[in-house]
Amino acid sequence: SLAFRGEGLEKVYQTGETSVRALRGVDLAIPLGEMLVLLGPSGSGKSTLLNIIGGLDRPTSGRLFYRDTELTALDDRELTRFRRAQIGFIFQFYNLIPSLTAEENVRLVTDIANNPMEPRDALELVGLADRCDHYPAQLSGGEQQRVAVARAIAKRPGVLLCDEPTGALDSSTGVRVLETLERAHAELGTTVVIITHNVGIAVMAHRILHFRDGQIARVETNEHPVEPR
Ligand code: ADP
Ligand code: ADP
Repeated sequence: SLAFRGEGLEKVYQTGETSVRALRGVDLAIPLGEMLVLLGPSGSGKSTLLNIIGGLDRPTSGRLFYRDTELTALDDRELTRFRRAQIGFIFQFYNLIPSLTAEENVRLVTDIANNPMEPRDALELVGLADRCDHYPAQLSGGEQQRVAVARAIAKRPGVLLCDEPTGALDSSTGVRVLETLERAHAELGTTVVIITHNVGIAVMAHRILHFRDGQIARVETNEHPVEPR
């Protein structure tokens, strides 16, 4: 069965006199538990689609479903509730709160979740059991991003959405972050959608959607997704 189904998704950004068609009739079906990569040139619509899938934004037209719920039929409050319950976001910059420890940063999310993990268990899952009491400034970039992954998975979201999660990291550090994403995917059965230029991530994906000018130009299927080392 499907996590997401989208039909004829259009997005037009209107800024003053000019309008940009960021999505031009995107149809999509993302199976539950899939690891999916969005690839394509800057400005081709990847972030726009990710934000719409995650309930941060709405399409101008078209319909979008998450499992049996039509997201495009929800009001703002219901859409926010969907996002809080089901979506974990990971961005390029970790957005940790500097005055809180790693554990406290994760606890911010678990305190308001329905069925959360223990913050320390989430940090252990990303290999940071011994960093729980560290503040962000005491952690390397890769470790901070792994705290962000722990924070995203600690509420046990149905879906993990990642926008260039390794974009700010060197390649060896990026690999560790990838391993934690793959681990979350394997152990929690989470559907994962990742925007990335990182070839190491693309080979781990079940499928790659190639974007061009607001459309899915090509779909690539990996018969044998590579396990991270
Ligand atoms: P990508 O993630 O592939 O780089 P985006 O989805 O960010 O592409 O952008 C798609 C197009 O929409 C681009 O032309 C971009 O400039 C435009 N765009 C994105 N967000 C906004 C916005 N908030 N307001 C106006 N235009 C936007
Ligand atoms: P990784 O590549 O695994 O993210 P690094 O090799 O960059 O980690 O860092 C190794 C160790 O050095 C980390 O465990 C961290 O505690 C410490 N460290 C790295 N960067 C900083 C920093 N800017 N401030 C304080 N400690 C740091």
